[in-house]
Amino acid sequence: MRRTWAEVDGSAITSNTRLLKALAGRAELLAVVKAFGYGHGAEPAAEAALAGGATWLGVAMVEEGEELRRAGITAPVLVLSEPRPSAMGAVVASDLRPTVYTQEGVEAAAEAAAAAGLASPLRVHVKVDTGMHRVGATPEDAFELAKAVAARPELHLEGLFTHLAVADQPERADHTVSQVTALQQVADRLAATGVRPDLLHAANSAGLLAHPDSHLDLVRCGITLYGLAPAPALAGLVDLRSALSLKTEVSFVKPLAAGEGVSYGLSWTAPVDTVVATLPIGYADGVPRSYGACGGQVLVGGRRCPVVGTVTMDQLLVDCGPASPVGAGDECVLIGRQGDEEVTAWEWAERVGTIAYEVLCGLSARVPRLWS
Ligand SMILES: *Cc1c(COP(=O)(O)O)cnc(C)c1O
Repeated sequence: MRRTWAEVDGSAITSNTRLLKALAGRAELLAVVKAFGYGHGAEPAAEAALAGGATWLGVAMVEEGEELRRAGITAPVLVLSEPRPSAMGAVVASDLRPTVYTQEGVEAAAEAAAAAGLASPLRVHVKVDTGMHRVGATPEDAFELAKAVAARPELHLEGLFTHLAVADQPERADHTVSQVTALQQVADRLAATGVRPDLLHAANSAGLLAHPDSHLDLVRCGITLYGLAPAPALAGLVDLRSALSLKTEVSFVKPLAAGEGVSYGLSWTAPVDTVVATLPIGYADGVPRSYGACGGQVLVGGRRCPVVGTVTMDQLLVDCGPASPVGAGDECVLIGRQGDEEVTAWEWAERVGTIAYEVLCGLSARVPRLWS
């Protein structure tokens, strides 16, 4: 009933996946579909990526993996951080691959596998902290944990991996090289004891685009699948197509006289007589309250128009300019193209002082996602 929606083009995700897979060479591609598929919808995003050649899926939470299974998706799913011990039963029940980086994690995974009486060992990935300092075991601890995993009959060491902290900053390539080297050193030490994980992995989207040495056996792509560069500095390296457009329709139009203000606080006043349109989308949908103050624009009638005044919970205001022919029901674009103009998630992000990831993940559940 409310005319506000996000259009998602599944064929863009499929074609992006194909391009990324080609860049990855012999490495497999894991499609990261955490956080509701970066705001697009996890299950259809997973299907679209698998259709484009992804062979793995990655999620942040066990619950997200369960959702994929409920949707009938059977591809291998890696939970990217260590599940709580009490969640390992659910990991096994949904045939997910846990990440582990503590003794307790290894114990819990082994116990859950034993309790379920699995026919084959539970496949786990050990995460090494090589410098991001978020989660993961130190290289020394990871070496011991990986040996412990390999020694347990209930477990199989399927992966050894790390996560890159500055792969999107080409000028800091040294740090990325040192992270990949540290991972490789753990793998080499393990190999010397006869332990060989099936898959060594490090690259995120930025690693794939900018650091060929990080590709190893598998690359984990998120943002690029959805058609956006991980950072403006890495834009244009591949011909990605952004998958999501955010649209709404004008709900109300009014003339405003010079000097009249709009919205809470009346923080913006019309400099000249003008026409202001009301759009039925607000911060409860994911548009920051400050989007007008920081220069945000929306497309109306194929033209860029500034958001004015404070964005409210459910509505925002747009200055369409003097004598604008805008009318109720006109389509407006907050992310995407209209005519010759385009507002990208990166443009929005840079105005607000964030990154495209946060813009996409910030689109709330009440915005319907229309897939085509
Ligand atoms: C989110 C995430 C990714 C994907 O990162 P992108 O920059 O979106 O490609 C890869 N690996 C891990 C561990 C992650 O948490």
